[in-house]
Amino acid sequence: MKEILKTIQRLKSRLSEKNLKTVIIPHISADGDAVGACSAFSLVLERAGIVNHILTCDFLPDYLKWLKNTDKAISYQEKAEKCKRLIAQADIIFMLDHNTTQREGDLETVVKNYTGQKVIIDHHPDPEPVDFVISDTRVSSTCELLYTVIREIWGIEAITGNVANALYTGINTDTGGLNHNSSRPETYLVIAHLLELGLNKAYVHENLYQHNRISRLRLVGNALLNKLTIHPAYPVAIIPITKEELEKYDYKEGDLEGLVNIPLSVESVMVSIQITQRKERVKLSFRSKGDIPVNEWAKEHFNGGGHLNAAGGQSSMPLIEVVQKVQDTAAWFFEHYLADYKHS
Ligand code: 5GP
Ligand code: MN
Repeated sequence: MKEILKTIQRLKSRLSEKNLKTVIIPHISADGDAVGACSAFSLVLERAGIVNHILTCDFLPDYLKWLKNTDKAISYQEKAEKCKRLIAQADIIFMLDHNTTQREGDLETVVKNYTGQKVIIDHHPDPEPVDFVISDTRVSSTCELLYTVIREIWGIEAITGNVANALYTGINTDTGGLNHNSSRPETYLVIAHLLELGLNKAYVHENLYQHNRISRLRLVGNALLNKLTIHPAYPVAIIPITKEELEKYDYKEGDLEGLVNIPLSVESVMVSIQITQRKERVKLSFRSKGDIPVNEWAKEHFNGGGHLNAAGGQSSMPLIEVVQKVQDTAAWFFEHYLADYKHS
């Protein structure tokens, strides 16, 4: 933490310079933590008089668009030239909730070629060595860490009600509603402070959890009833979802958020993997219980990574082959990382 505080002080001094232009970038397929962090940080920079633009390599999901300043986000898919220009003109790029430019989709090469300063604020392992690395894998979420960054640089008064709502969104969603990754007292101290500073928890929960569409419930219901299988030899739940199913149930970005966690509610299931056919690739989501490192499985076989209990990856193979590969590599994973596991 001492090292992080030193880096924050260095950033504070850099941000005290006049006429800075900055850019904020979340990861591809941004989630509640990434979008919450972008919203909170954009609001704080704005209040501090620092020019900032949120640039996304894809599109922010509709279910998070109630967060302030997300309406100003510029998509590289729609305005590539404008994104390139803003990046070229920026003094500083903030990479939020990701540890490498590889998680920036089509923006990756633009950001890689950028010669100004980069700041990572994140909680994934092994961050890239950029100019300012503010990273702590112990925190629940990037938003929890961002609370400290904002407080140290601009003071507690910079955390308005809207900033508190955005930060809490990240803490809540990245922990599955304070379910996993949330056993440190510090997380609850941050939430307590956010409540004192004007967090409207009921409003955040209503926006996050009470704006469902029936078609979303049916998509999730169909996945659990008709698609979920258990590996014949290992305690692994697998949920494949086809493009046709997404179309049939009027899929919107974020509709499958949380589904992969549900199989872990079964006592015997130790790992849950959702395999979703997206436009041009297959996306995998891994979740696990206890100290089972599913990020190693994602990294070794599916070009991905992430946290011990929540990781992701992708493949360009057809869905059915990816499902087969998951089944085939289960033995490798359990032998490498759970040698004690006795399969039935
Ligand atoms: P999700 O399953 O929610 O998409 O992702 C779970 C976690 O894995 C997130 O913390 C995310 O940052 C990480 N993750 C997801 N996809 C990838 C990927 O393709 N590469 C890497 N390195 N991490 C990923
Ligand atoms: Mn996160």
